[in-house]
Amino acid sequence: MEVRKTTPLKDVLKLSPACSCKACKHGCTMGSGFLGPADKKKIAEFLSLGEKELEDAHLEKATLFHQEHFRPKIIRKGKPYGRCTFFTDEGTCAIHPVKPLQCRLTMGCRDYGPMLQQWFMLNVLVNPDDPESIRQYQQYLASGGETIAGGRLSELVPDKNRLRKILHYEIL
Ligand code: SF4
Ligand code: SF4
Repeated sequence: MEVRKTTPLKDVLKLSPACSCKACKHGCTMGSGFLGPADKKKIAEFLSLGEKELEDAHLEKATLFHQEHFRPKIIRKGKPYGRCTFFTDEGTCAIHPVKPLQCRLTMGCRDYGPMLQQWFMLNVLVNPDDPESIRQYQQYLASGGETIAGGRLSELVPDKNRLRKILHYEIL
């Protein structure tokens, strides 16, 4: 199945069963996955916490494509990377049934895995209404970053004049 930017979440999730095996856990030891729009509520309910309590105890913000997004805290121990706060000593995810959408869409053993991450990038991380987000996405593409159908700049910002002005910093 082809994954496009407009592929509905329910169809994307059909491609990413909630599996769990060693091959996909390396990422949990080096960082954590970003939450999707519905995840904070689901994780808070799973842990019997309020959303603010969850934020304070277990989440951190990081900026990608000029947008702030939540992800589980990373235990860095003085290094720039580290293990996810939800990665247990037994090597499991403590919130596996409700893990962040980016974690759920990590399908390391499937050839379509990168397309799922590009879907996440386009539907969660990049904000087409924010000129700086578009410029940073343009840099991602210019540096060889791949995308899926619906992810061309001209598709994200169909107004050619607006896109030109954004890329020339005439719209900040
Ligand atoms: S939330 Fe779970 S799957 Fe996601 S990085 Fe943390 S331990 Fe890994
Ligand atoms: S995507 Fe593949 S490697 Fe990753 S957890 Fe699922 S079965 Fe394992």
